[in-house]
Amino acid sequence: MAKPEEVYQCQTVNCGCIYDPDRGDKRRKVPPETCFEELPEGWSCPVCGGTRKNFKPLHGPGSVKEEHEKQ
Ligand SMILES: [Zn+2]
Repeated sequence: MAKPEEVYQCQTVNCGCIYDPDRGDKRRKVPPETCFEELPEGWSCPVCGGTRKNFKPLHGPGSVKEEHEKQ
């Protein structure tokens, strides 16, 4: 299983789509075990179409959790 640091979640309103590197993104021909950093340049959220910049890791530097802890 992927570590929380490697699992990314879309941060746009009403989305929350998870990118799990264990699964990749079948629809965009991203094979399983592709880490988020290795996604192709034009990759976007399969649910809302948000760019990679809209995604944050579940854990670690710049993560969703860290943002919450700042407040
Ligand atoms: Zn999204």
